[in-house]
Amino acid sequence: MKNIFLLIFAALLISCREDKRRDLTFRTDSIEFTKSPSAETLMGILDSGEYLSSLLVRVSPSAVNVGEVSLIFGQLFKTEQCRPGESLFVYIEADTVAGIVFKRKEDQIYRVFRTQSGWEGETVAVDVTFIPFVIKGSIDSENPSLWQSIISSGGNDDVAAAFCNLLEYQADFTFSSRTGDSFEILIFKKYSEGNLIGRTPIISGNYWGSKTRGDVYLFPYSRFTHFSLDGQSAQRRFLSSPVSYTRISSGFSPARFHPILQYTRAHRGVDYSAPTGTPVSAIASGTVTLSGWAGEAGIAVRIKHAGGVESEYYHLSRISDGVSVGRRVEQGQVVGFVGSTGLSTGPHLHFGIKIDGKHVDPLPVLEKASGEPLPPEEKLLFKKAIRYYYFMGEVVSELNFIEIKNFVF
Ligand SMILES: [Zn+2]
Repeated sequence: MKNIFLLIFAALLISCREDKRRDLTFRTDSIEFTKSPSAETLMGILDSGEYLSSLLVRVSPSAVNVGEVSLIFGQLFKTEQCRPGESLFVYIEADTVAGIVFKRKEDQIYRVFRTQSGWEGETVAVDVTFIPFVIKGSIDSENPSLWQSIISSGGNDDVAAAFCNLLEYQADFTFSSRTGDSFEILIFKKYSEGNLIGRTPIISGNYWGSKTRGDVYLFPYSRFTHFSLDGQSAQRRFLSSPVSYTRISSGFSPARFHPILQYTRAHRGVDYSAPTGTPVSAIASGTVTLSGWAGEAGIAVRIKHAGGVESEYYHLSRISDGVSVGRRVEQGQVVGFVGSTGLSTGPHLHFGIKIDGKHVDPLPVLEKASGEPLPPEEKLLFKKAIRYYYFMGEVVSELNFIEIKNFVF
């Protein structure tokens, strides 16, 4: 049964690639500021480590109540998740601030404007066209690794990393990828006014190998995560490792002979040996509780996660922009880069996990960190979503697609 599905899917995806597919455009009322000769626009870009409120102070005239405006923006989106490079526009008409716009991405724009009774806010509707894009390829002599093959089939590093992470539970790409194995990844590219402005998450992904295989689909309803066809979660509670392409050079132990200190003491984490500059990812979403120099730990980052879990990343060469105390980081976000700062003999990442304030061996925690499977009562909805994906771009009605779009994007 599954094979028949996959064949239908493959056939449909191949046909999706032809030019006859429809563009799926959604028009909504877009908001324009009235332009008058006396209008003026002030603009500022969020600096690394800067908060939206301080950017407001920097850009707005003093008459603006920054506290009130920040609060309204905070009702529209999670302002603590702002990233450097996002931009603020203050519109002034007849010497009065008429509106303030914060643009996170081309299709994530928020506006605060003055009314008779005070300030109000809204999310600005942006015309976005979603065009299905299939990344399809195989492992062969020209592309001996899955990574290379995804790139040469139209993907990028981001998509390749997301695909590998999503299928990590099912497929073993490191040891079991073989020449002749093939894959297909469905995403939507997002266009606004003819310009590519981004992509959706992976909608579906399949890997067919002689030794290993896997499939994953986005569940676009109540929970915004991926599952395999049989309802197993592809979402990890924690990444399996904070660094890729590395080996463990020293494990967790209650007592270890310290190479520099020359005496035995506990090693409260694992060391991943990796070259200086290797990106270090947050193992889960959370809030930064330490960011900067921390004595023996050198340049260090600590993140607080749900459920009383904290993760520690020590001896970094540097910390990524915007990773400062109080900021939220997402799972997989690069928080810093491997180095050898503090009490360290060579470039490596010291990685620690605390549960309820106590250090534990990180490896078993990372190994057994799968998400919850799809509850049986949601399986029907999941099958429905997958059916949409099979027919996407060909016979899906616009109504159905809007339904998906509302849930997914
Ligand atoms: Zn260590």
